[in-house]
This record gives sequence, C-alpha cells and structure tokens, in this order.
Amino acid sequence: MDPIKFLLPDEKLPEQWYNIAADLPEPLPPPLHPGTLKPLSPSDLAPLFADELIKQEMSTERWIPIPDEVRQILAQWRCTPLYRARRLEKALGTPARIYYKYEGVSPAGSHKPNTAVAQVYYNKMQGVRRITTETGAGQWGSSLAFACKFFGLECEVYMVRCSFEQKPYRRAFMELMGATCYASPSNRTAAGRALLEKDPEGRGSLGMAISEAVEIAAQNEDTKYCLGSVLNHVMLHQTVIGQEAMMQMELANDQPDIVIGCAGGGSNFAGISFPFIGEKLKGKRKVRVVGVEPAACPTLTKGLMAYDFGDTSHLTPLLRMHTLGSTFVPPGIHAGGLRYHGMGPLVSHLVHLGQIEAMSVHQLEAFQSGMTFAQAEGIVPAPESNHAIAAVIREAEVCKQSGESKAILFNLSGHGLLDMPSYQAYLAGKLQDYDYPSEEIAMALAGLPSVNR
Ligand SMILES: *Cc1c(COP(=O)(O)O)cnc(C)c1O
Repeated sequence: MDPIKFLLPDEKLPEQWYNIAADLPEPLPPPLHPGTLKPLSPSDLAPLFADELIKQEMSTERWIPIPDEVRQILAQWRCTPLYRARRLEKALGTPARIYYKYEGVSPAGSHKPNTAVAQVYYNKMQGVRRITTETGAGQWGSSLAFACKFFGLECEVYMVRCSFEQKPYRRAFMELMGATCYASPSNRTAAGRALLEKDPEGRGSLGMAISEAVEIAAQNEDTKYCLGSVLNHVMLHQTVIGQEAMMQMELANDQPDIVIGCAGGGSNFAGISFPFIGEKLKGKRKVRVVGVEPAACPTLTKGLMAYDFGDTSHLTPLLRMHTLGSTFVPPGIHAGGLRYHGMGPLVSHLVHLGQIEAMSVHQLEAFQSGMTFAQAEGIVPAPESNHAIAAVIREAEVCKQSGESKAILFNLSGHGLLDMPSYQAYLAGKLQDYDYPSEEIAMALAGLPSVNR
C-alpha cells in the first residue's frame, strides 16, 4: 500500500512554541503608541491583554514552553494528520508530490483553537472574568467561545454584520458554547454608534468589529480582549502546526521544496511556515515559502508597508505592516476570514526581508481549485483554504510543464462544512471575480497616519 497518512503519537505534541523573532536578521520595527508615537511599553497594552500574552508579544526568546493545561486541551485534536494527496496528484497529472497538513479536525474546524485555548488560559490565570472579540466568518468567534467555556469565562463576540446574516450556523455554534454574539456595527459601543450614524445600513468590517470589542475591554476592569490573528503571540501559538509537519515530513521520508498557506492576518500561514523559515534563516534548509491572498483584498501584493491602526476607529496601537488602510472595507467575497486591511507584522517583515513570496488569486480560481481538491480528496476545504489550494495547483502545473518533481506542502487551514452557501453560490454561477480598484486603494492609503510621512 502507498502511504497517504502520517500520524504522530500524542507525546510528539510540541512542548514549546517557536518564536521566529529570535532568528530575524533585522529586528521587527516596534509597535507605536497612537498618541505619543513612541514605541509601546507593556503597560500600554495591559488594559487589553493578559500580562503573559504581552510578554510573548514582545519576546525574543526562541522557545517558549506550552503550559501543561494548554497541551492537555490541544491533545484532544493534536497532533493533526498530514496527508499525501495522491489522488489529487493523479487528477492533475503532475509529477509533484503534494502534502497537506489538516487543521480541520479541531472542534471549531480550523487552526484557530490553537491560539484561542492558550489566550483564554492566560486570561483565566490572571483572574479575568470576561473576554471580548470580533469575528468575520465566525471561525475565530467559535474557537474563542468553546475555549472560554472550557475555562469558565464569559465570551462576547462582535460579528461583522454581513457574516452575521450570511452565516447563521456559526452564530448558533457560538451561542451553543455559551457566548453572546452581536452584529457589528452595534449600538452597544460609541464606536459602533458613530459608524451606524454615518451608514445605518453598514455591512461592517473586521476593522469596525475590532473597535467595538476593544472599546468594551478598555472600559471594563474585569474584561480583556483577544485577537485571532495578526499579533506576534498569535503567530507564536500556531507554530505547533509547522513543528508537527516537520516531524511528519521526516516520517514521509521527504522534505518540502515549497511551503504554501493562505493569508488573511497571516496566522495559519505563519503556523506552518515559520519553523521551516527558522531553519532557512540558519542556513539549514532550502525552501520557497508562498503566502496566498484574495485579489479582492490584496494586502501583501498591493498594500503598502507602513505604520497603521488595526481598527477603523483608531483605538489600537500602530503596527508596522502591509496594509490597505484602516478605512478599507473589503468587498463581500466569500472567504470572510481573509478580508482584513492589514497583515501580521512578522509576516509583513519576512516578505520585506525576501523570505516569503506573496501571491494573489481570484475567488473563481480559488473555488474551482477547492472543488478539484474536494473531488480528489473527499474533504470540503474552507473558502479561505481554497486560496492556498489554487497556488498549489499552479505550482503542480509548473512541475507538469517542466517534468520536475517537487514536494509541495500546504496548510489546509479548515473545513468548509459550515460554508456550504458559498459553494452553492459558486455552483450556481453566482460568484464573480473582483479586483479592488487601484484608485480606491490609493484613497484608503492616503489616509495612513502621519507618522509615515
Ligand atoms: C480565519 C481563517 C483564515 C485566515 O486567518 P489567518 O490568520 O490568515 O490564518 C484562514 N483559514 C481559515 C479556515 C480560517 O478560519
């Protein structure tokens, strides 16, 4: 029998997170205080985040131990399987060897619980009573909801209004797990009320929902805020994915020539790729690393590297990252988890250092690729993951043309079983490609904070 599945025993679950900040050839530009424009001090973040998470955010320690209680919960679904996609290879007629790490086996169906569990744990240790957050497609809200339930914390989720209406099952998941879910913009916050006043029919955006969740946390002593992507500590928590994948590639007796992931804020992509990039930075490995984003929200490929706010109402610190401008409202494409104006500072910095290549694909190619994958492997990918699959298929096609056999590893960041309406729309021919007009990008970028000038 040809091996297709590479599994690790429980005791191989990584005991440490890998912090790529320790190995950067140039340090990451620091986050800035939005008022003073001076580098942020840990106490500036204390109203929003648990102390231990702030420490991790600023740490340059290479290895950070994973607390036993966190590992014990992760062990419910980790180590996740790594598959060789032999039927997909055959369907494509490619000599490439295609591998995927499958994060859809977690309770919420994606990689997001890897960090949700860790974040709620540190908040619990500090005596926090309630967590607020935002969610786009609902994956992050679902992950945080069950993590809060496990540790006995209250969870309040601001869900981007268009997803709140389009994705009722995600909302039901959160409520089943005991969370409270509001459509954003809401009238519960000053930020939300101001946005509603300007546009009562507003569809919302991640940037707006972040403003609401941050406002509630900042105003309440017993409440803190959690973010599901972008920040350094989130990238850190996701590195269990790449560490496991590295051991599993050994089991497969192979090594990836190319590592691919889809990139919204960058966390699942960082999770699979940072451990490999770490070895590349030390000269121990050769590997191409490719981050894939939607052409309709082209943060890495058309955005600027600049200091920008993480939210629409300018309540957050300034992060140096690839951005489309904090006022950018992405079009209603179906990969909700990829619709964010910014990109994680670590991922942005590694693109700037030439360690990561960025690619964009249109949603029709993404869904076509997802269907090809589903028919070959029997798994329905999340619409976000389809972007990674599109890039894999392009690379497999290059191998077919050249006759070269390369090993391609990608992160299948989640399943799409709660995203069937978007597949229905695709099958009914209702999806369209959309290029964000360059004039609109230029306009949003013209509003970047003055510190960049
Ligand atoms: C949220 C999400 C993404 C995008 O977020 P990243 O931080 O870029 O990983 C990708 N895939 C799935 C399945 C998601 O839920």
